[in-house]
Amino acid sequence: MMKGIPVSRGIAIAKAMVLRTEEGHHEIKSIQASEVDREKARLKESVELAARQLTELEKQVKETAGAEQAAIMQAHMEFLSDPAFVGEMESKIAEQLITAESAVQQVAEQFIMIFESMDDTYMRERAADIRDVSKRLKQNLSGEAGGGLADIKEATIIIADDLTPSDTIQMPRQYVQGLVAAKGGATSHAAILARSLGIPAIMGIGEEGLNRFKNGDFVIIDGATGDILLNPDEEAIRQYTAAQEKEAARKQALEQLRGLNAETTDGHSVHLVANAGGKEDPAELLEKGAEGIGLFRSEFLFMHRETMPTEEEQYEGYLRAVKGMQGKPVIIRTLDIGGDKHLPYLDLPQEMNPFLGWRAIRISLSRVDLFKTQLRAILRASAHGKALIMFPMISHIEQVRQAKAILEEVKQELKSEGQAFDEAIEVGVMIEIPAAALIADDLAKEVDFFSIGTNDLVQYTIAVDRMNENISELYNYFHPAVLRLMKMVIDASHRNGIWTGMCGEMASDPLATELLVGMGLDEFSMNQNSLLEVKQRVRSISLAEAKEIAEKALSLPTVAEVQSYLASRVNEA
Ligand code: PEP
Ligand code: MG
Repeated sequence: MMKGIPVSRGIAIAKAMVLRTEEGHHEIKSIQASEVDREKARLKESVELAARQLTELEKQVKETAGAEQAAIMQAHMEFLSDPAFVGEMESKIAEQLITAESAVQQVAEQFIMIFESMDDTYMRERAADIRDVSKRLKQNLSGEAGGGLADIKEATIIIADDLTPSDTIQMPRQYVQGLVAAKGGATSHAAILARSLGIPAIMGIGEEGLNRFKNGDFVIIDGATGDILLNPDEEAIRQYTAAQEKEAARKQALEQLRGLNAETTDGHSVHLVANAGGKEDPAELLEKGAEGIGLFRSEFLFMHRETMPTEEEQYEGYLRAVKGMQGKPVIIRTLDIGGDKHLPYLDLPQEMNPFLGWRAIRISLSRVDLFKTQLRAILRASAHGKALIMFPMISHIEQVRQAKAILEEVKQELKSEGQAFDEAIEVGVMIEIPAAALIADDLAKEVDFFSIGTNDLVQYTIAVDRMNENISELYNYFHPAVLRLMKMVIDASHRNGIWTGMCGEMASDPLATELLVGMGLDEFSMNQNSLLEVKQRVRSISLAEAKEIAEKALSLPTVAEVQSYLASRVNEA
């Protein structure tokens, strides 16, 4: 069995179609000086056509996958209107006397090289966007259609070297059952799209893995585990087919839970809320049953741009969420930049250990000007609904006190200007560093709520880099140390009369739901597509049963034992 990085859950069973993007063998073709204008005009036409295609695609994507995904098409359009990109192609035609195709190829290669050499995973993955846009331009220049994908007429699992977001979105959904890619990881745009389209997907199998497939091979993939079976035997096919059918029936049944409360059989309620990156449509979140936004990642308002967003721009972004959620709570996390998230215009230094470095609240407290602007914008938005403020990466009590003091100053400033805001705005901290978990009793006296960020809490507790695929097997939120820290945090919050939520990925894992309810977690914040599944788990047990599960799980010494115990309890239910 082969294994890749699981990026989108679900089982797919179908024939393979192997796709390779031919790159690098492009011949550079020369032209005469008299042909420059003609080539420039051809380039212009293909850029204009691409813009029209992307506008149309954006519309389609908005309908099928939501506004956040449609933003990918906008990012592509931005490249098309960036003078450093298309302008560079025009200059190349004129200066080097080459065809429009050759100019597109050369400039794309240049940009891809720059992006791929960056340390930041997010920026590296933008190389895929450039590939995508330049492929589109070349296709438009040659008059070719999308090629291959659109012609699929039977159930297929796509096996590709590098899937672009437009490839992913243009796939005929009724035939494409699953995706496997040699490159990419869970944060690539194609992975995000696959998840929101509900297509099972596995990435990062490498060139070697890719070479083991040929067209027409029979393939099973399990997007939850990353398992790939190549030409499996009858028994495996039977097993996975049964699992797939069960999954489909379960999904169907989940729809009935829309509109029902997230409470246990004995009436204990928890809050199920959504994580948002600023592009989600609040109406859609409400429609999916989100009782609020448990994590508004404000850094997304700061990305994909060349300058710091102004107070007004930030205000617009926060206002949209706060107003859109119609009085339901929106927890706005202050800027969480650094680590794997860079802002080119913020001039972050190269660091030996960026995840242990100048990150999140550490930046905000040393760049008080930026911090104040953000707090002003959040406070102003708080006048129009229910906003809460959350500080990321807290390790020291002093940081909370300092942040709160700055918040007070900003409140005074707004007051003296006569600006409206919620004077009683609640303030919370993320618990994502073991130190914060260990001093939770003291921290609880400073704030109104906690939110456990398991994504970071795991990496800092087990000392395992969340981005490093070589040690990804060690990265697991069911590690007993992580569970025990979480329990300490929840207990400390309750002892001090405040509540604890969770906005890390663990909150969306149905295998963890009973355990977390039993530990006393008050709020679960997750990817909108997981809300119903988690709700179902909450509604399937009593608080007493959940407590018993938590107690047992917390006593187990290994990850494997915790996981198999939870799986056995879930199967029983
Ligand atoms: C976390 O660390 O769990 C979290 C939610 O924050 P991020 O993934 O943005 O670091
Ligand atoms: Mg984090």
